[in-house]
Order: sequence, then C-alpha cells, then structure tokens
Amino acid sequence: MKINLALIKGDGIGPEIVDSATRVLDAICKKYGHKIAYTNLLAGGCAIDAYGVPLMQSTVEAAMRSDSVLLGAVGGPKWDSLPGHLRPERALLGLRKELGLYANIRPVKLYKALSERCPLRNTESFDIVIVRELTGGIYFGKSGRTEGENGEEAFDTETYSVTEVERIGRTAFEYAMKRNKKVTSVDKANVLESSRLWREVMHTLAEEYREVEYSDMLVDNAAMQLIRNPMQFDVIVTSNMFGDILSDEASQLTGSIGLLPSASLGSNMRGMYEPIHGSAPDITGKGIANPIATILSAAMMLSYSFKLEKEAKNIETAVETVLNKGFFTADIGGKLTTDQITEKILEQI
Ligand code: NAD
Repeated sequence: MKINLALIKGDGIGPEIVDSATRVLDAICKKYGHKIAYTNLLAGGCAIDAYGVPLMQSTVEAAMRSDSVLLGAVGGPKWDSLPGHLRPERALLGLRKELGLYANIRPVKLYKALSERCPLRNTESFDIVIVRELTGGIYFGKSGRTEGENGEEAFDTETYSVTEVERIGRTAFEYAMKRNKKVTSVDKANVLESSRLWREVMHTLAEEYREVEYSDMLVDNAAMQLIRNPMQFDVIVTSNMFGDILSDEASQLTGSIGLLPSASLGSNMRGMYEPIHGSAPDITGKGIANPIATILSAAMMLSYSFKLEKEAKNIETAVETVLNKGFFTADIGGKLTTDQITEKILEQI
C-alpha cells in the first residue's frame, strides 16, 4: 500500500513526538512492504509565526489531498495573549470542521504495568473507548451577549439534529460490535431537550444492534461511575461538551496523559490522528516527552484509515511489551528519554 500522510507537527513537544511516530511508521512500512510519504504542514502557533494566521486555506486543501493527517499538538504561552480567532487552537477546530471529522474516538486504557499509577485503589486494568461527537452541540451552537433585565447576559446554545446523533451513535455501535458489545450513552435527559432527542435516537439504534448491551446514563452519574468502577464501561458515546470533560477525567485514571491516542473521523477514510495532550511547554526541548500517545495514534490510523490491522497490532503490542518490561519515560516514573523509549519500541518491531 502507498500512504500519503500529512504531518502537522505543531508547537512545543509536537515536533519531538511526531518524529518518534514517523520513525515507528517507517519501520512498520518497511517490515510489511508499504510505502509512506510525508507532507509537512504548518498549523497552530508556528503557522501564526510564519503566515500570521493559525490555519491557512492552503493547509486545509493540502490536508484534504492527503490520505490522513497525523498531528502533534498546537499552542503555547507565546500565543496566549492573541485574540480568540487568532489563537493556535482555532487551527484544530478549523481542521475538524473543514475535514468533516464528526467523531472523536479516544481509547482509555490502563496497562497492567502501570496499575500503580492509577489514582484508584484496587484497579488493575480497564479498557474503555469514549466516542465523542465533535462538530455539533454547544461548542458550535448560537452564542452571544445581550442586554437583559439585570444587565449584560451571555448565552450558548446546544443543538443536535437526528442526523448528527444517528451518525455518532452508529459509530459507537459499530465500534462496540468489534469489542465487548456494550454501549453506554451519556446525556442529561432529565434536564435538556437536546439530550431527550439524543436518547430517543440512541434507543432506535439500540433496536438495530440487538447484540449490543445498551444503557443510558446521566452525565453526573457517569462522572461518578468512572471513578467508582471504570471497569464497568466498554464504549461510551456522548455529546461534544460531555465527551470533552469525561475523556479528560478518564485519561487521568491511566497514569499519564502522555499515553493516550485519539482519532477524529468523518464519513470517508481520511482521519486526523493526534495525542490527547497539549504542547507541554514546560518540557519542550528537553527530550523527555513521552511519544507513546502519538505512536499509538499512528497505530489507530493504520487500523481505521488503512485497515492495516496486523501492522496496527504490531505497534500496540510493541508498546505494551516495552511498558511491561518497565521501560518508562519521566511522566510515568522512569528515566528514559523520548529517543530511548522510541528505540525500545523500534526494537520490538
Ligand atoms: P498539556 O497537555 O500540554 O500539559 C499538561 C501536563 O502534562 C504538563 O505538565 C506536560 O508536561 C505534561 N505532558 C503532556 N504531554 C506529555 C507527554 N507527551 N509526555 C510527558 N508529559 C506530558 O496541557 P497544558 O499545559 O494545559 O497546555 C499547553 C498548551 O497546549 C496550551 O497552549 C494549550 O492550549 C495547548 N493544548 C493543545 C492541545 C492540542 O493540540 N490538541 C490540547 C490541549 C492543550
């Protein structure tokens, strides 16, 4: 297979961790006889420095011409004082919207080797996937300020259409069919009309996927249950804002944000793959960033966008073996540098 991959290394530790991931991709492609070509694109803070804006239309077009996008992270203190529309994070929202990436998939896995780093007692391992709706809901609804009876007011609107809920729901059910056949849909249907519509659509889908054990959960309860017993979950599907909050909560149960990959998918095979963490300005340039989240994001890409399951599994097994052998970077209590842990993973491949 020939893969044309757009690389958006971004800011901070972005270039360091993306370089590790491309070394791993190169090794996998060599082993299995695939060809991979990279196109480097600028987005985020580095694009502001180069072009004056976080995301150029030509960057979006180049990403659309690629087979998929691998992204490091964007942002940093240098650009913090810029107005909202010029902030590096706008690049992410712009890319997701322009590429039609409505589903964000975040596997949250506690490796046995890291169970001691989980802040919960008696939790050895768990393996959850959070499917978050990414291009609708309150982050994209009408918002603004008005003059009310008591002075200035502000509002944000949560809107979901049946089509939007159905397509994210289907992503979750299809995903569950490949795993443990269990879906928990998280909403706030006791208060929000948009959640009641969400729940109705999920119930219709559940009828279609009778093999899947389906349940609803209110978001406040879900936040509690994730801490009480994360092992009860398999696939969680939820709206943009609830997914944003719950996935960060869940990530903390795994020991380090440096381990968690993500995929943003749409209706075609092109996806955008990135670690869930940010640009980590506090450790930039020190050579100690954990590249595993980005390496696992590359593995997700091989599986979802290119159906290269063996190749993806090879990367995941290599990472797990390295962790089982006790090779850790500083964020998970070890001493290995970014380069050294990458070498250890390459040895396993
Ligand atoms: P962050 O995720 O960058 O860092 C939080 C903490 O985790 C830091 O102590 C950092 O050193 C550590 N950390 C993160 N990734 C790590 C890794 N791979 N290895 C080891 N340690 C790691 O979050 P923040 O500090 O809140 O944000 C920093 C910048 O990143 C901000 O400008 C923010 O807007 C941006 N950000 C970008 C994204 C993205 O690009 N998707 C996501 C979140 C934050």
